[in-house]
Amino acid sequence: MTPSRTILLLPARTSEKDAGSLQAFREALESYLVSNVRMVAPPHYDPVLLEGADALVVLGNGAFGDVAAVSRALSDADDRGVPIAWVGPGADRFADELGLRFRAGLQAPQRGEVEEIAYNGVAMATDTLAFAPPLAAEMARQGEVRAWDPALESPVILNREDLAYVGFLPFVDNYGTLPFVATIDSVARLFGARAVDRRVLFRLEDISATAYGPDAPEFADVTDFLLQREVFMHLGIIAEDVDHDPDLREERVLRDIGAARNVVTLAFSHPDAVEIVQHGFRHFRPDERNAGCGIPGCGWEFFEDDEETLGVEAAVAFARERLTAGREVIAQHLSVPMVYEAPHYTMTPAQAAVAEEMFPLILHEPWSYGSERGAFFLPWFTRRASAWYGPSDVGYVAYDEPLSVDYILFRLDAIARILPDPVVIVFFHPFIRGAEGREDDLERLVTGIERLGYRFASACDELASAR
Ligand SMILES: [Zn+2]
Repeated sequence: MTPSRTILLLPARTSEKDAGSLQAFREALESYLVSNVRMVAPPHYDPVLLEGADALVVLGNGAFGDVAAVSRALSDADDRGVPIAWVGPGADRFADELGLRFRAGLQAPQRGEVEEIAYNGVAMATDTLAFAPPLAAEMARQGEVRAWDPALESPVILNREDLAYVGFLPFVDNYGTLPFVATIDSVARLFGARAVDRRVLFRLEDISATAYGPDAPEFADVTDFLLQREVFMHLGIIAEDVDHDPDLREERVLRDIGAARNVVTLAFSHPDAVEIVQHGFRHFRPDERNAGCGIPGCGWEFFEDDEETLGVEAAVAFARERLTAGREVIAQHLSVPMVYEAPHYTMTPAQAAVAEEMFPLILHEPWSYGSERGAFFLPWFTRRASAWYGPSDVGYVAYDEPLSVDYILFRLDAIARILPDPVVIVFFHPFIRGAEGREDDLERLVTGIERLGYRFASACDELASAR
């Protein structure tokens, strides 16, 4: 995808602490909006930076470093007809430049005071977000209200042709995920309408020769059904199964993916219906934290603290060795994998850089921002370094959660109301098909996804077709 737009991003205040959220915001603008982002701290703002820009995006904050520079940038953008997106608190200081009016005499709500907002009718928990003071009620008539604070009876996200206004900072762990998506949607509205295109990337997870060898009927049963329903499959392949004896100090290889005849047959007879995804190498390594893991897909191959416990150099070398070995085994029996998925989505940032270098696509969302572990829900592909990351997942059908399918469908419905063209991962472990009482889950899931207007897409095809 070649960037088609240029965005000037002005973070009103930056600190080390904000680096992770700033990276997430910037990557979302670059990736979802297919744009080049020029980022500049307000003291370094120069009007020349607005030349050729398609939008000015200001990331506001409660505490400003340079009010005059922000004010000048807003006025310059207005003079040049460059649309503005304001995200975060602080816009009340620039009410004139933005053409906004705030409720007289009302302070910004304290963190936690706004419990919930509704975006396009989807209720979103916002109890940990930092909000701006409430807009005057009359603003509602001067723009399109995308989100409303029912308690204060005030617009929280407002779109006009020349302005997207988001009255909170959308970065928090876990809870803030949908407000972040709503924020990106509001900014995207500055660039006109997007076609409705809801996509699910369907992944069969933890596919190994032990779990799905010749004696296990579930794999063929599941894939026959999915072929018949024309569901494109991403196969998360564990290249080698090892002995999972908890006392084991060394790994003993039991069998590799070549022993899973059902998997090999499927890949060769339906190459247009499946994509091979390398899921680590063994999904396991000898470590006391893996004690008691009795089934393939349970163990951890990389740990978040690998850089601390092994040292950066050894952690990186270990990752490279594992990923290379896994790629060779899979290439030998199936095809050279172009897509990677880290076991439990976990590697250290330096190890992740190895994966980014070796694979053009990593099939889950980026898991870290700077040194922080990320907790953003990202229903789009994210570009980072030379690789693309896949979107976030909306969960999987869990053995001990009978309501999994309902939860996944509920989540898909909410996302589709927020973003016209979301892409998300749904994943499924084939053995569930044989679990008592769960035989119908797969059919309910596939039918439910289709009823919500989602289509089953191939991750590689989606990336290849530029928006
Ligand atoms: Zn796994």
